[in-house]
Amino acid sequence: MTEDFGPAIASVDTGLRINGRSVTTDATIDVHDPASRRTVAQVADGGPDHARAAVDAAAAAFRAWADTTPRERGEVLRKTYELMVADTDRLAALMSAENGKSLADAKAEVAYAAEFFRWFGEEAVRSDGDYSVAPASGARTFVTHQPVGVAALVTPWNFPAAMATRKIAPALAAGCAVVLKPASETPLTALAVADLMKEAGCPDGVVNVVTSSDSGSLVSAWLEDERVRMISFTGSTPVGRNLLKQAAERVVNAGMELGGNAPFIVTADADLDEAVKGAMIAKFRNGGQACTAANRFYVHADVADDFVARFGKAVEALSVGPAADGSDVGPMITEKAAKGIRAILDTAVAAGATIAHQAGAPEGWYVAPTILTDVAPDAEILTGEIFGPVAPIVTWTDTEDMLRQVNDTEFGLAAYLYAGRLQDGLKLAERIEAGMVGVNRGLVSDPSAPFGGVKQSGIGREGARDGIREFQETRYFSVDL
Ligand code: NAP
Ligand code: MG
Repeated sequence: MTEDFGPAIASVDTGLRINGRSVTTDATIDVHDPASRRTVAQVADGGPDHARAAVDAAAAAFRAWADTTPRERGEVLRKTYELMVADTDRLAALMSAENGKSLADAKAEVAYAAEFFRWFGEEAVRSDGDYSVAPASGARTFVTHQPVGVAALVTPWNFPAAMATRKIAPALAAGCAVVLKPASETPLTALAVADLMKEAGCPDGVVNVVTSSDSGSLVSAWLEDERVRMISFTGSTPVGRNLLKQAAERVVNAGMELGGNAPFIVTADADLDEAVKGAMIAKFRNGGQACTAANRFYVHADVADDFVARFGKAVEALSVGPAADGSDVGPMITEKAAKGIRAILDTAVAAGATIAHQAGAPEGWYVAPTILTDVAPDAEILTGEIFGPVAPIVTWTDTEDMLRQVNDTEFGLAAYLYAGRLQDGLKLAERIEAGMVGVNRGLVSDPSAPFGGVKQSGIGREGARDGIREFQETRYFSVDL
């Protein structure tokens, strides 16, 4: 049984969304289905004029939106949550079509993405302040959190729905109006989400979406616009660094969710079946194309053979192919990405690594899920994001030495560890330089938890209570009674 993504694709208007209207452009961007490698849609290609028009709309809508009651904003978010959940099949089909991810991954993403609307619909009404007496003067200090203003949001292709909703929902809860630029590989999902928001009663101009083949010029136009007070970016570290430099010019608030290089540690007394379950999620969810993906495995030498055998069995059972066929692992996002990952794999093998287990993969933009053993602790494959279904395994015996290797990276987003004794696991977790550590769990993403990285993996947190604060300015009024 093969799914037909055609109706889902045809359901999305391909124009820009500016001030509640669809805007077409002469030029268009081709959207590919990575499984068939065919163009499945052509969306509008916005330029700096559209960037300005989107900010015009957001700036005009901002005050009225900020002045709505928190409950009103919360209700729009809650309604969007309900509409998204009811629309799960269409949204999942869209993501499988434009991103290639398996339908199971796509459905899980819809649930995760929608949850940000529910969570921040609830948080909208809990943004508290403070009232206190200044110790020396006796003046009264009122602390309040007000919306930062117009926020520019820039999102990647690997989670087309969730990376957008994780920004839109807290921004709107705070009272901000937004301009969003989704990745050019996956614009359809973001456009569909914007339309659901309109249906949920979001006023015109509060959420604007501009797709563009020239992301640099578009985002620069936003960063140069004095009405834009926040840039929230999710993507690669080099682009994030570049945007931080631009944001510095006008001292724009910045939230950065950047690249990762997550270690996955297995101790000698870990439950190996559980560790394999966690490893399958941490490594192969989304075909390994996740910023939180386990990128390097550190398995205690005493259990390495056993772990690899069990992990290998699970990997060899993976079906690789088009999402439409119900496969576990889909294609990579582009041909360039697939070639890059295969090159990383080849380099590792040339440097002495062994392909211990591998699943079969069809022709096209696919990469065979692979477990590599005999990986040296200083191997190149451990230093950068693989962003694909390849699992290099390093063995260790000395805890301090392993921790040194684990922390020897400029990244610090996610980490995973499996330990038999929880106190050992927590002790290790405290020593790992990462914003998020999964302890006996292979998944850390959760709308109610503060997602983000340390070191060069980012600045700020998304989700949880922290997420809304990113889109607020803390202000106080000093009052002499
Ligand atoms: P990317 O190339 O940095 O692109 C991310 C977004 O930035 C896209 O919308 C892209 O637009 C835009 N962009 C690219 N160059 C730009 C420029 N010079 N100026 C302004 N905007 C620009 O990243 P990606 O390849 O899409 O995504 C993969 C990366 O994202 C990985 O490093 C991954 O770890 C990271 N990521 C991090 C998180 C997190 O929460 N920490 C989550 C998911 C992904 P175009 O598509 O039009 O080029
Ligand atoms: Mg890109």
